[in-house]
Amino acid sequence: MSHSCNTADGTLKPSARTLDQVSLTGATPTHCPYCALQCGMHVAAATGDSPAIVTAREFPTNRGRLCQKGWTAGELLASPERLTTPLARRSRQLPLEPVTWDEALDRVAEGLQHVRRTHGDDAVAVFGGGGLTNEKAYALGKFARVVLGTSNIDYNGRFCMSSAAAALNRAFGVDRGLPFPLTDLREADTVLVVGGNPAETMPPLVQHLSAQRDKGGALIVVDPRLTATARQASLHLQPTPGTDLALALGLLHLVIARGHVDTAYVDGRTSGFDAVRPSVASYWPQRVERITGVPVGQLEEVVRLLTTAERAVIVTARGPEQQSKGTDTVTAFLNLALALGLPGRPGSGFGCLTGQGNGQGGREHGQKADQLPGYRRIDDPAARAHVADVWGVDPDTLPGPGRSAYELLDSLGESTGPKALLVFGSNPAVSAPSAGRVDDRLAALDLLVVSDVVLSETACRADVVLPAAQWAEEDGTITNLEGRVLRRRRALTPPPGVRTDLETLAALSDRLSDDAHITGDPRATFDELRRASAGGIADYAGISWERIDAEDGVFWPCPSDDHPGTPRMFTDAFATPDGRARFVPVEHRPVAEDVDEDFPTYLTTGRVLAHYQSGAQTRRVRALVDAEPEMFIEIHPDLAAHVGLGDGDRARVVSRRGSTEGTARLTRAIRADTVFMPFHWSGRQRANNVTNAALDPVSKMPEFKVCAVRVEPAG
Ligand code: SF4
Repeated sequence: MSHSCNTADGTLKPSARTLDQVSLTGATPTHCPYCALQCGMHVAAATGDSPAIVTAREFPTNRGRLCQKGWTAGELLASPERLTTPLARRSRQLPLEPVTWDEALDRVAEGLQHVRRTHGDDAVAVFGGGGLTNEKAYALGKFARVVLGTSNIDYNGRFCMSSAAAALNRAFGVDRGLPFPLTDLREADTVLVVGGNPAETMPPLVQHLSAQRDKGGALIVVDPRLTATARQASLHLQPTPGTDLALALGLLHLVIARGHVDTAYVDGRTSGFDAVRPSVASYWPQRVERITGVPVGQLEEVVRLLTTAERAVIVTARGPEQQSKGTDTVTAFLNLALALGLPGRPGSGFGCLTGQGNGQGGREHGQKADQLPGYRRIDDPAARAHVADVWGVDPDTLPGPGRSAYELLDSLGESTGPKALLVFGSNPAVSAPSAGRVDDRLAALDLLVVSDVVLSETACRADVVLPAAQWAEEDGTITNLEGRVLRRRRALTPPPGVRTDLETLAALSDRLSDDAHITGDPRATFDELRRASAGGIADYAGISWERIDAEDGVFWPCPSDDHPGTPRMFTDAFATPDGRARFVPVEHRPVAEDVDEDFPTYLTTGRVLAHYQSGAQTRRVRALVDAEPEMFIEIHPDLAAHVGLGDGDRARVVSRRGSTEGTARLTRAIRADTVFMPFHWSGRQRANNVTNAALDPVSKMPEFKVCAVRVEPAG
């Protein structure tokens, strides 16, 4: 791009020319449409090919930097593939054709009513996305519970953060990804990143890690791959996929054995340590080395770096979380952090790097199967009464907990499952595990409705497609990985024929209900959300759009107008009934599907710098496609030689669930027993053709990070 140049850490900085253009045309301060870092940017209307010029702006998380995805975010606004009219088909055999909004909405409303009359309210399901604004997530939850009366609502964010959320709730009584500002990382003497690769997924974050190391700090990275982040680490641990839990237990074993437990902190601020101490007794270093492949010397070095640090931070990401034991794995690292006395101590702490743009806010306001706004539990009578009062309905009419994301997808069209599905801002046909099974279930629906900005792979399968406004075309709020509530601002007018999701929900609500339950106005929706969240765990009552504008973001909880917000949590007490953080004993267990003779190699999946999630947006941006045009398979040269593959060959990866193809990329950065694939592509390049939908029993997170595969030439 002419307006940018590369910096050493992979982020991009603006050129003066672009800033001049922006100052000439006027610019709106807002945030990136993609990941949870929610970098601050300006968007200005422009002429020519692109309808918008994007420039970085100073904001604490990105400090004037953007990654390539952020810089090119304006291009999708003018994509020729943009949907600008509703589409519908008369039968699955016929193509989608343009229809009017009234025809489309009538068709959806009649279809939903028919399914409800025939099969009951729970036969209609709603699937949301981790990129929806707080207002949309809130309205979607209300629409499902009040207008449709269904318990079946969940969202793609379940695939992002749910294991960390479950573990944080268990330990702290609250789930806020980072309970401290991201910039605290700069001050830590030691940072331990478990299963995260921000150098590719959130490049502007790396400047904080660089600053930390420039001050003499140590960075430890745990990852089966020598990632771009791991290359910058002082110490890289490369465990066998699926063994992070044993690694954490082994580290705590050593902390106890070497006498490094912060007993004053454990006695004064926690409960349950006596049950955890014996539970790690059998994880002596040599045994942990056998399980994980991490040498004893490295285990000792991690403990030395953590225990000699005055300030230390431990963060987890998708690596330990996207496992069938993800909740216990995060819990094991939480136990380690608590034994060291880190959470709630200035400059130290424990957190999780949320991935999806509004993964945090999306799970706080009722888009998740088991939750009501304010991070309230839907099975809590007091929570139901409070929210029902705001909604003006009888609490007894609210449904109970519904199916989790994969369970919901897996049940579509089955005898006891939903027969109609509404999808907003999500592309589960690419993002869900065991995707062949999901294809079958989507095809078995009586009615599939998708609201999106482009014809995603899920929209291609739909009976009705509704064109949605994009990030720079509507107002709303999002909550970033720090729990900081931010403003997305409307910088451009949506193209004719396009509506916001709120307007669509309001129009459907009008058709399906006698009472106007949903408004298309985002500010009114946010004000209602504030009342619905008041008194809840994620309390937004004191957060107004005006305050966000004035303070460039407000951290929840913020229960009143005069409350300053809460950048740092747990300084005095945790959010548990007794104010103490909870140790929880956990045991290592094998992965759901281990390697064997037929499928002798581990597969792990993840993201690359140029693409975001299912790629529905980024695969339509020219510069990003040029940067990473197709799926690839990272494979160690020894394994490649063994299976007869050379660098650049077409390779096939086969599991018990299906196969996928990509270009073999030979590298010694990956373990010889493991291959890596990004999951941004579809069709024959869909990584989720082979992944395993084994679910964590607590969080219902699928095991994206490890399954057994066979690698072979594609012929
Ligand atoms: S994708 Fe994430 S890291 Fe990149 S510019 Fe957007 S918010 Fe920042």
